[in-house]
Formats: sequence, structure tokens, C-alpha cells
Amino acid sequence: MSMAFIDLQAQRKRLNGRIEAAVMAAVEGGAWVMGPQVRQFEEELAAFGKAKHALGCANGTDALILPLIAWGVRTGDAVFVPSFTFTATAEIVPWLGATPIFVDVDPKTYDMDPAKLEAAVAAVKAEGRLTPKVVIAVDLFGQPADYPAIRAVCDRHGMKLISDSAQGFGCTIGGEHPIRWADVTTTSFFPAKPLGCYGDGGAVLTDDADLAQEMDSLRVHGKVVAKDLGASAAEFAHDPKYLAMRIGMNSRLDTIQAAVLIEKLKVFPQEIEWRNRIAARYNDGLRAHVAAVPDVPAGSVSNWAQYTIEHEDRDALAAHLKDRGVPTAVYYPVPMHLQPAYARFPQGAGGLPVTERLKDVVISLPMHADLDEATQDRVIEAVASFAG
Ligand SMILES: *Cc1c(COP(=O)(O)O)cnc(C)c1O
Repeated sequence: MSMAFIDLQAQRKRLNGRIEAAVMAAVEGGAWVMGPQVRQFEEELAAFGKAKHALGCANGTDALILPLIAWGVRTGDAVFVPSFTFTATAEIVPWLGATPIFVDVDPKTYDMDPAKLEAAVAAVKAEGRLTPKVVIAVDLFGQPADYPAIRAVCDRHGMKLISDSAQGFGCTIGGEHPIRWADVTTTSFFPAKPLGCYGDGGAVLTDDADLAQEMDSLRVHGKVVAKDLGASAAEFAHDPKYLAMRIGMNSRLDTIQAAVLIEKLKVFPQEIEWRNRIAARYNDGLRAHVAAVPDVPAGSVSNWAQYTIEHEDRDALAAHLKDRGVPTAVYYPVPMHLQPAYARFPQGAGGLPVTERLKDVVISLPMHADLDEATQDRVIEAVASFAG
């Protein structure tokens, strides 16, 4: 029997027609762009993520650029990002003419190392060519970044903090979501993410009402929003998108995708629990057989976007597992600072030795909420049988 790396059809079947009904209701409702499901989902998403405001947008990449545009990030600004991440985290920085600076990660959590961040900021300041403006921390593979420490670095140097929670949305530290420390949390609803839709989608969350309005304007072509109208100004009598107050873009979450997400968000807390149970079982079964199993600090909760182990003979292990019908993936074989398009950008002081080791040893195993125990055991036995 073939095994899925992420089985989204199993989730759809478990939801027993609810997604299909929600999609058809959105089709019949006819408000296919910015329909009532979008507003409803934004409210439920904000409540789940413990943020005052949530706004849907077209994808997780746009979610990252919306706050950067709102803050006026531009040429001469430095934005600190991990190198061990998906391209999107860094990609939006050069769009604005700003410079991404690649920071190494912690060898246990794979998330941005706050001490390396501090050193990278100090080096940029000493050089005096760029202005440190923003830090984008990533909740890689679902594990929350060290927000308390990263926030302290941001406060010391007057920088904004974005939590790129495309993978980690729903993760917590001491029960608190990343927005407790970040100015903005962004996420992606790409199907394979822990909270995914049936196409592309994304969202930004913030507690800052002014910033929320700014991003709401930017996602709809710079439309006029309440804060643009003085207390005494007459309301603009037409559709707000016909009065452009700033240079914006078109980045909306589709109504049909919002309808899918409303159903998926209802079961998301339960799914995070299941994923944690699977990860704990994997950890117990695999610890003796590999160089490292994932290490989540006490008090932190991962959503297990990926379950990733380390093995010194990674490629041979991947081939062994493939022969036994167990799919695997390597996230990420080429870190950002070694990508052809990004190699010209600066690296944090001391280079990125942890990232450069991880790229050769990490391997991710099947992980999704519907992974049953028999299948987990097949994965564990296949890894255990590797003599490598
Ligand atoms: C997937 C992902 C994104 C981008 O999301 P899209 O919806 O694909 O644009 C950004 N950051 C990280 C860390 C991601 O994994």
C-alpha cells in the first residue's frame, strides 16, 4: 500500500462532506471575491491566533511584504532573516530594494539564533552602510522561534519583528502565540501547510489597529480606509477602491478558500494535538536509530509542519526508505545564502556553520493529522532497519 507524505484526502474524507458543502454554499452565494466567508474567517482566525486583527491575502509571500511596505522599508534598510528557510522569507526584501542579511540558526530548534542575530546587527551598525529595520523570524517545521530573546534584540536596536508562521501557525510558547512578541504574524494557507486551503491563500495578524488598516488598504490597491478620512471629512461616496491613497497591490483571499478554511480551522486545535501525539511516538521509536530527533524546548508547542530527523548518511537513508515505500523530503537542500540568486547578500558575523551542516543531514518523514499508528510503525521500522 502506498504511503502519503502528507495525506490531505484523508482529512477531507474525515470531514465528511463539510468542505464540499461549504464550497458549494460559497459558489451559490455568488460573492466570490471578498464575500462574507472572508470576513467570518478573519474574525475566527484572529480569535484563534489571539490577535486583535487578521486580514486574508493571496498567499504567504504577500503576507510578508504587506507589513514591509506599510513600514516603508526601502533601499538602505537591512532585514535580518534565517538562511535555513523557504525562499519566500528572503524574497520580498530585495523587491523593496532593501538588503536581506542571513543569520544562522540554533542547532537544536533550527530557528534563528538570537545571539547570532545580535552579532549580525552589531556588524551592520559598525559598518554603517545599512540601517537595521526589521527581523523576520521563522517558525521552521512548526517550532516557535525564540521570540522572547529575539524581541529583546529588536527592542535594543529599534527594529520591527515579523513572525513568519507559514509553517508554524498555531505554535505557542508558554501558551502564548508569536503575536505576543511579534508586531505582525504572517501565515500561508498553501495546501501542504498545517492550516491549508485548496489553492493559494495567506493572512497577516496584528494587534496594531493603524497597521491593520494600512495593510487592508495595501491589499486592495491602496484603497481609502477610515484612518485616511479626517474626523470631519465626508465619507467617500463610492467604492473605497476607487480612491487610491497609497501604491498598493491586489492580494485577496478567495471566498471559496475562506469557506474551506472556516471548516478546517474548527478541527485545527484537535489536529495539532494529534500531530503532537504522532511526533512523540516517532521520537520514542526513532531516538535510538538516528543522530537527532526533533527537540522542542519545554513550554513550547510545535504544530509539526514537518517531522525532521538528522542522519549522517541522509541520502542513503532516503533511498532505503524509498525502497520500503516510505516517502521522505529534504527541507532544505540549499540554504538561502548559497542560492544562486541570493549568494550576493551579506551573511551574519561568523558565517552560517550550523545551517551548512543541517542542509546535509536533515530528512523529513511522513507527518499529517491522519497518520495512523500502523503507518507510523511502518515508518519507524523502516528507519530502524537501515544499517547505514
Ligand atoms: C510556504 C512559506 C512561505 C510562503 O507561502 P506561500 O503561500 O507559498 O507564498 C513563506 N515562508 C515560509 C517559511 C514558508 O514555508
